[in-house]
Amino acid sequence: MDHLNLSEKLRLYAEAFEKALECMLIADENRRVIAVNPEFERVTGYMLSEVLGKRPGFLDSGNHSLRFYRGIWRSVRDTGSWQGEIQSKRKNGELYSEWLSISQLHENGHIYYLAVFSDITHRKDYERTLYALANYDTLTGLPNRNLFSEILEKEVAEAGRKNEKVGLLIIDVDRFKSVVMTLGHTTADELLIDIVHRIRTCLRRHDVLARLGGDEFAVILPGLTESREASSIAREILAAMSHVFTSRNYERYVTLSIGIAVYPETGIDAKFLHKNADTAAYKAKTGGRNQFRMFGFDMHTATLEQLLLEDSLRAALARKEFKLYYQPIVNTNSGKLTRVEALLRWDHPDLGIIAPDYFIHLAEETGLIFQIGEWVIREACSQFRAWNKGGILMPNVSVNVSAVQLRKMNLFSIVAGAIRENSMKPFELDLEITESFAMQNMELSLGFLEDLGGLGVGLSIDDFGSGYSSLAYLKRLPIQRLKIDRSFIKDMPDDRDSNAIADAIVAMAHSLELGVIAEGVESARQMEYLKGIHCDELQGFYFARLRRRTKLSSQNFPDRSERLWPLHLDPLRPTLN
Ligand code: C2E
Ligand code: CA
Ligand code: CA
Repeated sequence: MDHLNLSEKLRLYAEAFEKALECMLIADENRRVIAVNPEFERVTGYMLSEVLGKRPGFLDSGNHSLRFYRGIWRSVRDTGSWQGEIQSKRKNGELYSEWLSISQLHENGHIYYLAVFSDITHRKDYERTLYALANYDTLTGLPNRNLFSEILEKEVAEAGRKNEKVGLLIIDVDRFKSVVMTLGHTTADELLIDIVHRIRTCLRRHDVLARLGGDEFAVILPGLTESREASSIAREILAAMSHVFTSRNYERYVTLSIGIAVYPETGIDAKFLHKNADTAAYKAKTGGRNQFRMFGFDMHTATLEQLLLEDSLRAALARKEFKLYYQPIVNTNSGKLTRVEALLRWDHPDLGIIAPDYFIHLAEETGLIFQIGEWVIREACSQFRAWNKGGILMPNVSVNVSAVQLRKMNLFSIVAGAIRENSMKPFELDLEITESFAMQNMELSLGFLEDLGGLGVGLSIDDFGSGYSSLAYLKRLPIQRLKIDRSFIKDMPDDRDSNAIADAIVAMAHSLELGVIAEGVESARQMEYLKGIHCDELQGFYFARLRRRTKLSSQNFPDRSERLWPLHLDPLRPTLN
């Protein structure tokens, strides 16, 4: 620029100031405005005449702290400049983002400040749009798969630090393809939005609902203390679908299949958590839809009917839907009937016969087990009396008692009452108590068992070998029998470990003068093996599958059409000798 003289230079600088596409502001050393350029006037809406001599505080958006501004000026003073993004306010009150640089100028012993900035609001909007496109689903506005993965990673990491659990639900709309086919894409989209709204109502504030694609959604449930909380939210979501979806364009029922995994139990990191919840969702789908599955726990399925399980469990008692099935137990050597075990069934009006594994747990959780358990004991005893009155000499009936019942129930008086009312001798009733209870609550169970034993009823330890038994404890319990857990009988006699365990249990029991029953005997080979090791009694499908006993008649006990009692057994006239 050396060919320019001073005045030409000044004119050129002035023109640059006037025409720059950046906003410029010059302030004196007291930071009072002495000049602004036209671009400044255009962007901020303030004319030079309005701001001359003022400090630029009029531009404050109110979104930055005093400390933030002080930091800027400190940097300008110390280093001569500052650059960064800040938010400011136009004269009309509108906020805008600017990229600002402030420089300190020295002229003639005076300090001036030059602020240059550009309005980057549009760029910000654009960035935001790009971010949204990359991270949010355009139909529902929910985080998409991308953002979902990011959030899941973050939540899992945080839960790891805080020692919390994170639940993950993968939700799939059942038969959505047919919805699209019948309603068309646009209406199906509308329905999806409705579904999202309903799912939302079941979530807590910090839960994250995401759309992974098509009809697949995910819910991240941070901060859980128990896995059960995840299944109860899943249950709520299923229930929220139970009423019809209506709009101008449709009237439809929708069901969902939900898979659940919980960090850290069923997913050690975000990747596994997602994979496992996916697997569980797949199982929910192939298992009949309209249900949730907890990864790894196949028992915890819930169909809509089962949602009502607790209520209907309560009603089942009143409606007398519980039934006892009786499985014979025979003497190994003589093949004669020694006792029957009463096994509970729920004869559900819609679902059919339901095995106890599906509802005992819930009954225990809700306390309904007390009433059910009392009914079982009374029913078994009254059936016992009916058999004997009807000419079937039943030696003994065994009843299962759950740990919960033992701990809280007035079992003693119920048992004593049932025996008395049915004119039974105490030894004609056996109670089966699982090993884990007897062993874990030694002192407690000892007291209970001694009381019951004092009545004269027989006591057996059920599922023996599956828990942690200590011989010393076993010796102290007032019991008569051990029932070898079915898992050891299953692989007998080909699995040498199973054989060895069964051998040891029988030998140990005999040395303690206890009887041994093997349960789950399904084959002649198993029977022969057990005979060889002198197991006292046998029970299992080899002798009888379970038959329901409702009507009292010697014809239907056992049911020969089922070919289940081997011919050498004649349970119709069991004798005690
Ligand atoms: P458990 O006491 O071990 O009962 C034996 C289970 O083994 C029964 O299952 C029976 O059907 C089954 N079983 C018998 N023989 C064979 C066989 O040869 N092969 C195979 N694979 N299985 C066989 P169930 O009736 O489904 O009962 C399951 C569990 O539910 C019982 O296990 C018991 O713990 C509980 N339970 C049953 N009835 C009652 C009850 O009245 N009260 C309580 N608290 N629990 C009950
Ligand atoms: Ca049992
Ligand atoms: Ca058992």
